[in-house]
Amino acid sequence: MGDPRRRIPRTDALLAEPRLAKAADTLGRALVKSAVVAAQDRARAGEIAPEDVAEAALAALPPTASSLRPVVNATGVLVHTNLGRAPLSAAALDAVRAAGGATDVEFDLATGQRARRGRGALAALADAVPDAGGVHVVNNNAAALLLCALTLAPGREIVISRGELVEIGDGFRIPELLAAAGARLREVGTTNRTRVADYAGALGPDTGFVLKVHPSNFRVTGFTSEAGIAELAGLGVPVVADIGSGLLCPHPALPGEPDATSALRAGAALVTASGDKLLGGPQAGLLFGERDLVERLRRHPVARALRVDKLTLAALEATVRGTPPPVRAALDADPARLRERAELLADALARRGVDASAVDSVAAVGGGGAPGVELPSAAVSLPARCAEALRAGTPPVVGRVEHGRCLLDLRTVEEDDDGRLLEAVARCGC
Ligand SMILES: *Cc1c(COP(=O)(O)O)cnc(C)c1O
Repeated sequence: MGDPRRRIPRTDALLAEPRLAKAADTLGRALVKSAVVAAQDRARAGEIAPEDVAEAALAALPPTASSLRPVVNATGVLVHTNLGRAPLSAAALDAVRAAGGATDVEFDLATGQRARRGRGALAALADAVPDAGGVHVVNNNAAALLLCALTLAPGREIVISRGELVEIGDGFRIPELLAAAGARLREVGTTNRTRVADYAGALGPDTGFVLKVHPSNFRVTGFTSEAGIAELAGLGVPVVADIGSGLLCPHPALPGEPDATSALRAGAALVTASGDKLLGGPQAGLLFGERDLVERLRRHPVARALRVDKLTLAALEATVRGTPPPVRAALDADPARLRERAELLADALARRGVDASAVDSVAAVGGGGAPGVELPSAAVSLPARCAEALRAGTPPVVGRVEHGRCLLDLRTVEEDDDGRLLEAVARCGC
């Protein structure tokens, strides 16, 4: 018989195995080789049989050459920052794939000359927000604010309410971002109340603009008041409105959430927003506003350092023009249908011996949008220990643990993914 370790196939023989060779064509030889070597090591350690090395290497291969794993978001948080914010629509994914090679992003095929970069995405946004005289796109909303400060307030003052000095996340704060751009912040009012007169008293020859920031990740309730864009626009200096979440028009389920169209109609000179929150698109910073101001932003030297790539432009245009993005579907989902899906899944799991039941749940927008808004939802309730097992599965499923149970909230799971979710739970053996 001899030592079984001598039966472990050699590396080049394994790399020539048809399925592993095919995987090397898409993932690259180095990645496949490291999976092969790891499987050989497991066989040497006696963890697997020498005959199973090829199978083990195949099972350990990642789905793509990127280490980013696709996961099922069952947290009930629609825009989950740690899970990459908005998932892209089918239309956006197709557009990204098509634009991945050489593409006419900055080229006019009719004339053979250079053309305006990203004109399709800009036109789509302009069509969606007809009140904007100009549109520009940068890397994210923080970049949009930076560009406003650099262009309109270098060495000058930005007037802002003390109730709107927002920390975005991960320790990054909007006031510090603006100060880093060389602007001085002129804070007015108090945390809970700021009046138009507070702003008016702070204006002077040094004023660059008045900034309204949507407190998108917290709520101040009780004895509060704030000055609206329309009142501030009457003060005679430009009002820049950071609306945060990227709604282009009002959404009926989110009455308190600002949108670009309403902000412009109220008199904002510029509106800034994120592309990957409620708009449901790729990471991007959207700028809408008066044509001359937008043109000045676009021509600022730093604009070149903030510009987006062709993949973002492709995804953004397709998000606005194409099939509705998952965030929109999640926002518009009918709670009764969510409950039906939860019951179907829980029944199917119970038949397989899993301790599963359907429960009502409350989902949230998350990711800096509609703070405090509760979206009625439904979930599959499982033992708490499932949370860890599900994260370790393929695909990983991320739920939330609440009152000692692991909840898989269906408002953030696309209906087409219910089958995958069922199999993932059944397989994880919890
Ligand atoms: C999310 C958010 C930001 C930051 O946007 P990014 O696109 O992540 O840079 C800025 N302001 C507000 C009000 C936000 O909600």
